[in-house]
Amino acid sequence: MKILVTGGTGYIGSHTCVELLKNGYEVVIVDNLYNSSVEILDKIEKITGIKPVFYQTDILDKEGLEKVFTENKIDAVIHFAGYKAVGESVAKPLTYYENNISGSINLYQLMKKYCVNSLVFSSSATVYGDDFEVPFKEEYGLGTTTNPYGTSKKMNEMIITDMSKADPELSCVLLRYFNPIGAHESGLIGEIPNGIPNNLVPYIAQVVSGQRGFLRIWGNDYDTPDGTGVRDYIHVVDLARAHVKAIDYAKEHKGTEVINIGTGKGYSVMEVLHAYEKACGKKIPYQIMERRPGDIATCYADTEKAEKLLNFKAEYNIDRMCEDSYRFTVMQSK
Ligand code: NAD
Ligand code: UDP
Repeated sequence: MKILVTGGTGYIGSHTCVELLKNGYEVVIVDNLYNSSVEILDKIEKITGIKPVFYQTDILDKEGLEKVFTENKIDAVIHFAGYKAVGESVAKPLTYYENNISGSINLYQLMKKYCVNSLVFSSSATVYGDDFEVPFKEEYGLGTTTNPYGTSKKMNEMIITDMSKADPELSCVLLRYFNPIGAHESGLIGEIPNGIPNNLVPYIAQVVSGQRGFLRIWGNDYDTPDGTGVRDYIHVVDLARAHVKAIDYAKEHKGTEVINIGTGKGYSVMEVLHAYEKACGKKIPYQIMERRPGDIATCYADTEKAEKLLNFKAEYNIDRMCEDSYRFTVMQSK
């Protein structure tokens, strides 16, 4: 079975390609290398023994993207390609909507033209907004998003749901990721942030490697056990495994399903900091700052649907996530 992975050289995409190849799937990657590099293909080959087929193509280039469909008999698509920086999306909404919406529509149109009926889409817990009680359940539906990035995820969910209402042959799985962190145990692939990291663990990693002086903790006056924000961190390899399960599910079922992918357990910023200190064996300096606008106090998943439909349960705990992130950071700096 041949899977087209858009954004396959990116952070989550590269780990997913590894898991797909390990499970006997053929992989065709489309990525314009906006936020990744071609060397990732060698790393994937080092881990799996297989170098995936690769097209350096922008999904906005519909003709270029069509070539991928004419040259390969694609059975299913996992769609990661997109921009993901929340703050940048506020400053450049049209750029975000063009890439994340127009690019996706090109892809979905070509899927229809070439009769590719299975799709797994990268959505995000951000679509719940601040409207619901934790744990977030899929049945809550879509909340109020607070930035164009989040809205582009919500719009994709709506577009795919409409597509699947109109075409009963379609099988779509919308995975709502919680907070993916960590790296492959080989230390060969992981998250390489562009510029100053916005996310917690990449920022901590840069403090540990000496690129930044201290962690800025955005608020310690939330209604949480230690006052710092609580999130559902999930190991990227667990998340990658969930995609293989989602492809297996899509093979057997028609229609659209929205499924949370998290661990179901929340950790505070302080708890993550301490787990990372344990992993790297040293104290990590930090300062408490004002709250970051748009942040919510607590976010974690109800994982029952993932367990029931996909038979998926995350395996790795926060210590392992930090150990793997640290190993990747050390290997990067060599
Ligand atoms: P990433 O930036 O590492 O990977 C995305 C890949 O898509 C990159 O390699 C980039 O070069 C490519 N890309 C971007 N625009 C493209 C285009 N027009 N044509 C072709 N390729 C293009 O990001 P990631 O963390 O691996 O995230 C993957 C997906 O998961 C994204 O859609 C993201 O929004 C979503 N997601 C990520 C998180 C997270 O915390 N990392 C959480 C929820 C959802
Ligand atoms: N956070 C922090 N300092 C940072 C980055 C993040 O204190 O430099 C906090 C943030 O306020 C939130 C948690 O860490 O409570 C996770 O933030 P991240 O940006 O990684 O994920 P998201 O907010 O998208 O869930």
